[in-house]
Amino acid sequence: MHHYTVPDTLTKLTQMGDVTLFEPAGDQPLQERKSPQTLSANQPHPPAPSPTGEGEKRMNREHFQSSGLLDCISHVSTPQGSKPIMKAMMTTACERNCYYCPFRAGRSKTHRVSFTPDEMAGAFDILQREKRVDGLFLSSGIIKGSITTQDKILDTVEIIRRKKGYRGYIHLKIMPGIEYDQLYQAMRLADRISVNLEGPTEERLERLAPKKEFMRELLTMIQWAEQIRRDHPHEYLARTVTQFVVGAVGDTDLELLSLTEKLHRHAGLTRAYYSPFSPISQTPLENVDPTPTIREHRLYQSSFLLRDYGWNVEELSFLVDGNLRMDIDPKRAWAEENLRQAPIELNTASREELMRVPGIGPKTVDVLLRERQNSTLTQIHELRKLGMRAPESAAPFILLNGRRPSEQMSLF
Ligand code: SF4
Repeated sequence: MHHYTVPDTLTKLTQMGDVTLFEPAGDQPLQERKSPQTLSANQPHPPAPSPTGEGEKRMNREHFQSSGLLDCISHVSTPQGSKPIMKAMMTTACERNCYYCPFRAGRSKTHRVSFTPDEMAGAFDILQREKRVDGLFLSSGIIKGSITTQDKILDTVEIIRRKKGYRGYIHLKIMPGIEYDQLYQAMRLADRISVNLEGPTEERLERLAPKKEFMRELLTMIQWAEQIRRDHPHEYLARTVTQFVVGAVGDTDLELLSLTEKLHRHAGLTRAYYSPFSPISQTPLENVDPTPTIREHRLYQSSFLLRDYGWNVEELSFLVDGNLRMDIDPKRAWAEENLRQAPIELNTASREELMRVPGIGPKTVDVLLRERQNSTLTQIHELRKLGMRAPESAAPFILLNGRRPSEQMSLF
């Protein structure tokens, strides 16, 4: 028997708005961000629909296709391709007081909406059956402690998986300091779990979220998740991601990327998200400047070098203040320092050396290694045929059959 009605649950979802705007979930986080009119810093939620009256009671399917409901749906790049994902919270009420967060306790501007597991599972089921979403990202404010809150999330997903039979993509938020068995259960039910560290060190977290404990409540969750994967090698278990709030409390790129590297190497982290700080009114950080998005971009570029290209954090070029250069991408910055005077011969270089050249990624390297078995690369335009979009950008850092392409280019 259902304990919800269709209008009630979907109306509540529209009241919730785009609650996870600052929480990317997929493989293309920069593309997940909605248009600015969806949410302004001073208005974290869109206005609630009119109070439920006769019109609302007769709410039909067309009515649900309002922009309010669309706020809960994001196109997310998942391991199974790009999908419309329902992003929601069990409740927008919270007993904690994180300094950057619109849902912090006591913030009167926040419209509080709460769901039971039956309601949330029912709302998702409706949208999924109507083919308007194919995937769920589920988070929550904390009420009555992390363990009780996590249980509500788990109960919801149990209903979706076991009663509704949904087999698709689910990404769950892990509440700080939950029990080991809850974490294991979450990893069995979901494809991804988020354990958001928020800050790169204990000191930075203290200034962002004084009620969260860096080691016991957050880092330990990530370590447990890796332990669970090792203890159950034959089970399908969720991968771990984390998120940092960047730029509000003096955190440096060196701190953020050093921790990211360690977690990739030793804790099975799949991805780190870097959310540029954006001030919210009625919070302790409301007068702090927003973080420029170029910083977020440079952090993602660097984290891909650490995760996908095998770089060490020491190889990235940091300024004396511990931050990356904003004027140049990190791979090119390294090449300027290391390859301009010692260019790489593309006909003989190893895979690792080729991956150091700006503009050359794993796919181009595969093609290049194959092609050079049959012929010698001598001309810059040959690189375009191998799939390189802008071979000129690599020209200062390479040799083709012993000659710098820039010398060849000057002949034309
Ligand atoms: S625990 Fe989560 S929802 Fe609550 S104030 Fe902190 S970040 Fe916001």
